[in-house]
This record gives sequence, C-alpha cells and structure tokens, in this order.
Amino acid sequence: MTREEIIKNLSGKLDDSTFERIHTFFPVQKVCPTCAGKEEYTLDGKTHKCDCVMQSLLQKHYFAANIGREYHDICLNDFIGSDRDRVVSAVENYLADFDSKFHFGLGITFAGPVGTGKTFAMSCILKELIKQGRDVYLMSFEEMITTWASAWTDKEIKLQLETRLKSVDVLGLDEIKTDNRSDSFLASGFDSIVRHRTANLLPTIITTNMAEHLMSSVFPKVSSLLSPRNQYVLLEGKDLRKDEIRFRIMELEANGERRPIC
Ligand SMILES: [Zn+2]
Repeated sequence: MTREEIIKNLSGKLDDSTFERIHTFFPVQKVCPTCAGKEEYTLDGKTHKCDCVMQSLLQKHYFAANIGREYHDICLNDFIGSDRDRVVSAVENYLADFDSKFHFGLGITFAGPVGTGKTFAMSCILKELIKQGRDVYLMSFEEMITTWASAWTDKEIKLQLETRLKSVDVLGLDEIKTDNRSDSFLASGFDSIVRHRTANLLPTIITTNMAEHLMSSVFPKVSSLLSPRNQYVLLEGKDLRKDEIRFRIMELEANGERRPIC
C-alpha cells in the first residue's frame, strides 16, 4: 500500500478528542513518537528523514485498536523464529485477498506454547488491516474477563464493551486459556460475542496456548463456531525475536537510534 492510500484510509477517522475519550491511558502525543520533532532519526548508523505525519497517525490508530506499544515498531520482517516461513506465508496469504476473507467471515487461529510469537503474528495482521481502513480491536482474554467482571454492576460499560466486541470489523482475541474466573463470563459473554460475530460473518482472530482438543472441550460452543471459519496455524518453535529484541533495544538505546512505527 502506498503512503497516500494509508493516509487517505486513516485521515479523519479518529479525531483527537474521540481518541482521548476512548483511550485515556495514552493521550494524544503532541510530538512525533519516533523523532520527537527532529524530523529525522538514526537506525543502524544511517540517518532517515522521519515521516512524522504517518508516524503519529499510525500510532494513534494502533493505540485506539488497543495494540500494545511493543508491537508498533516491529513488523512481519522482524519475525525470526523457526516457524518464520509458515507464519509469514499464513499472514501474507490471509492479507492478500482480505476482502474475500472478510466477505465470508474467515479468521485465523494461532495456536502454540507461550513465547512462539502468536500475538506478534496477530498484531501484524491487525496493523495491516488498520492501514487498509478497517475497524479492528485487540483484546486479551484476561482483559476481557476482568473488564466484563468489573462492568457487571455497570450496565452501560458492559453494553459498550459488548457492542464494541460484537460489531468491530475484525476482532483479535489474545491468549484464550482456561481460567477459573471465566465461568460467569462464559455463560453470558464469550459465547454470545463469538456467536454474534460468526452469525454476521465478522472475522475473529485468536491466539491460544490450548491444544485443539482442550480448546474444544473447555470452549465447545466457541470452538464449533470458529473451527469451520478459522485457518489453524500451529506455532511450535521458540520465537527468537524476544532475545533478539532485548539485545537490539540495548543497542538502539546506546546509539541513540530509533525504529520507526510500521
Ligand atoms: Zn518524526
């Protein structure tokens, strides 16, 4: 996608006051998140002109979609685990013909142990869809249960959350797992959200560390709704990115360098 297309897709979609209302944890930054107004940044010893308009625009939309800052400046090229080829081709294939995937409500399930890069793979998809102008939202299962429980007494908050999760073009649900607090939520919330989405052909992308048989025994309804619609991608190898990034961050910080938001 060209810069002009992304700007066109995102411009005017989210004004600052709406952003600050929906995302109180991350107020709108007054300076460029990458260069802090210097209009250039250095990466790997090379100086680059900073596209401050694009950097600010992307960050605002990533935050509004609840995508954590740690995923803003890493993209598919940075995936270096042993599952790289499989993950990269699954992500690229899903995005290549997304209009058609969207038409049929098709999603992806990234399954595998902790630390294999599942959330990273999902973030890559969601960020690309944001650039295409889609309405996306990412929520961890943990956050969903907690918010649901605390909103129990406040019907308006609960309704807002439920409406958002049901109606967003593409929902990313991160780290679905067994949780003994989830009983009341499951009875009223999780099934109903997924049921509503599949009934209206809205894609849901999930990550889970649960094996397929465990998922279908703990969450039978959700599993039977999603399994015909979601491509199942199993990640088995260690995501080397974490170690690599830890080293890279030290290096970038020591050299006063910045990685742009992508
Ligand atoms: Zn800048």
